[in-house]
Amino acid sequence: MFSALLIANRAEIACRVMRTARRLGVATVAVYSDADKDAAHVAMADKAVRLGPAPARESYLRGDLILEAAKATGAQAIHPGYGFLSENAEFAEGCARAGVTFVGPPPGAIRAMGLKDRAKALMTKAGVAVVPGYLGEDQSPKRLAQEADKIGYPVLIKAVAGGGGKGMRKVERAADFAAALDSAKREAKSAFGDDNVLIEKYVARPRHIEVQVFADNHGNAVHLFERDCSLQRRHQKVIEEAPAPGMPAEMRAAMGAAAVKAALAVGYSGAGTVEFIADASQGLKPDRFWFMEMNTRLQVEHPVTEAITGFDLVEWQLRVADGEKLPAMQTDIRIHGHAIEARLYAEDPATGFLPSIGTLERLRLPAGVRVDSGVREGDAVTPYYDPMIAKVIAHDGSRKSAAAKLAGALKQTQVAGLRTNNAFLIRALQAPDFLAGEIDTGFIERHLDALLPAREPDDDVLAAATQFLAQEHKRSADPWDARDGFRLGGVSRQAIEFVIADERVAVPIAAGAPEGIDVMRLQNGDLAAMRDGETFVLKLYDPMESAGSHGVASDRIATPMPGKIVQILVKEGERVKKGQPLAVLEAMKMEHTLAAPAEATVEAVQVVAGDQVAEGTVVVRFAKEAA
Ligand code: ADP
Repeated sequence: MFSALLIANRAEIACRVMRTARRLGVATVAVYSDADKDAAHVAMADKAVRLGPAPARESYLRGDLILEAAKATGAQAIHPGYGFLSENAEFAEGCARAGVTFVGPPPGAIRAMGLKDRAKALMTKAGVAVVPGYLGEDQSPKRLAQEADKIGYPVLIKAVAGGGGKGMRKVERAADFAAALDSAKREAKSAFGDDNVLIEKYVARPRHIEVQVFADNHGNAVHLFERDCSLQRRHQKVIEEAPAPGMPAEMRAAMGAAAVKAALAVGYSGAGTVEFIADASQGLKPDRFWFMEMNTRLQVEHPVTEAITGFDLVEWQLRVADGEKLPAMQTDIRIHGHAIEARLYAEDPATGFLPSIGTLERLRLPAGVRVDSGVREGDAVTPYYDPMIAKVIAHDGSRKSAAAKLAGALKQTQVAGLRTNNAFLIRALQAPDFLAGEIDTGFIERHLDALLPAREPDDDVLAAATQFLAQEHKRSADPWDARDGFRLGGVSRQAIEFVIADERVAVPIAAGAPEGIDVMRLQNGDLAAMRDGETFVLKLYDPMESAGSHGVASDRIATPMPGKIVQILVKEGERVKKGQPLAVLEAMKMEHTLAAPAEATVEAVQVVAGDQVAEGTVVVRFAKEAA
């Protein structure tokens, strides 16, 4: 085994790879950008090398600098994690030229699977069924629209270079095709520098089921069963599990065989995932699943496979990269119990899962389950990288007990300082349809109302907040200040004024604090009240701030994060409905629609398409409504 490994990644996956390396006695080298100089993965590594400024293009995507770092530190191998350079064939080749082992498949296999259209063509040739569709030989909008008609709606437009759900649009009717194509191409161009698309039939009741495969350089290939990743928002996974609920043995065997065939067809080596889409409209059937794509790297959700098989997949990767044979043969690999992973993201389910950036002023992660995280309390979630905070994985005897264990763990989780999907995840894990295994990729959208936690605090939360403030005041009050009563920022002796749902509300100070609610003061002066995994943010009424109006400003829409305005969808003087899209912001490599918070008249549009904007830039201002 090599003696030193460089991990060309950051956050949880960098930490996770280092844990295994350390256990195997391999020294670790971290790399980092300026935004990450104090990050957990840097602190954890034996050595660390700075790459460059925060943007990934100037740091984590700089293969040349990473190879220099390997040379300078004596690392003989590079683990790319996922994302960044993990599926970059040129980088894998660069490693080979520099005499460094790339922990991943050969460049030829990465290339063969790199573009969705080519991969599909290759799989068809190898006898693996693919989703019916048009591979996009002719990219003219007219031809693409004709092909969509031929395939039959609904269809899915996919960027051939796509990943992470970017450049992908589901289209329900021919009338919407042109606009969706435009938007998909624009997003693909900016994310991948390649705006070619393919068109696929949108599979009914789709379930995303993928198979973990592994191959070595001695001609052996195995699969480690399936993962069901059907719980998605924005075509992106949030809850994954293994095995797939309701999977018939015959279908499992067929999928495993198809996945191994796919790996062998491209001369694979190392860890890979073959993703299939299954039509579950009549339950899972062995003849109703199709190849979507192969990811030639370790997946975010690999821990559920580790849990049910008992193997450490990073150890397998390192051994295979070092030239060893696969640690186990197919007959040695079995399923033990059930595992579910939830991805805790800094994002706001109530605004279409927009990433939420800020500081993790509180971060308490649960005990008793596996937690893979790469951030600590006090760290910032920036717009530069993926906003995942942690993965929480529960393993138990049955699916039901694993779900209960995971929900219980998330209830112990506390995050404040930015918005997260924690309460949403708990609700999803407790949803009757989820527990019944009634899942497909439309699950979240269909159940969204029930899955969105209440924003407004209930009486207990308010009582806890008033108690907290009373105690805080007691602690801080000067002895000669004590008699004047406290009347500062909406706090008086008897009641405290909050701003709740844009209204000024006076809440009497409670006699005692209800059990199980943790309250803290945030840096901006707001309170965060945490109960069973939910965080309520409470704004104190400030007479100085809202002079003239009764509550919080809802007379404008501002950007939730820095980015670029790519489209303006309204004009001055226009009357808009609640929820109507006003503008499209591109940030964190995705397009985000900014929608009207209520029915209103547009008074001013303050940006133009193409503007680079800071967080909090006012995009649209609304006219005052006559009372
Ligand atoms: P990406 O590489 O951008 O993640 P994928 O091709 O893996 O894109 O697809 C992402 C998700 O989109 C899938 O997990 C699935 O939920 C959905 N999807 C993809 N293709 C289809 C299809 N033909 N029909 C229905 N849903 C699909």
